Amino acid sequence: LPGARSKPAKRTKKLLSEENVLALGRKHFSEDFPNPERRGCPPTDQLKSLADNPRKATESTLNHISSCSPCYRDYSRFLRKRKATLRSKPPRRK
Ligand SMILES: [Zn+2]
Repeated sequence: LPGARSKPAKRTKKLLSEENVLALGRKHFSEDFPNPERRGCPPTDQLKSLADNPRKATESTLNHISSCSPCYRDYSRFLRKRKATLRSKPPRRK
């Protein structure tokens, strides 16, 4: 059928989310934004709680992570830790 090719679904614009940050990070964040002086960086605690509680993420922190390699690396490390923890505890829901 002519014209029957399905168009790619239009993606709605989303806020930077955990997944987006990680996906972008895989491409380049971990190296492209060196910030040796850690200028404007949130405290490590904040990166950790962000990984623990993505819903509490503030846009400014996510934006910072997306343009700061050291913070991105810290954040993704916390995130991996958290996922490993979640996986080791099977959900007890029925
Ligand atoms: Zn930073």
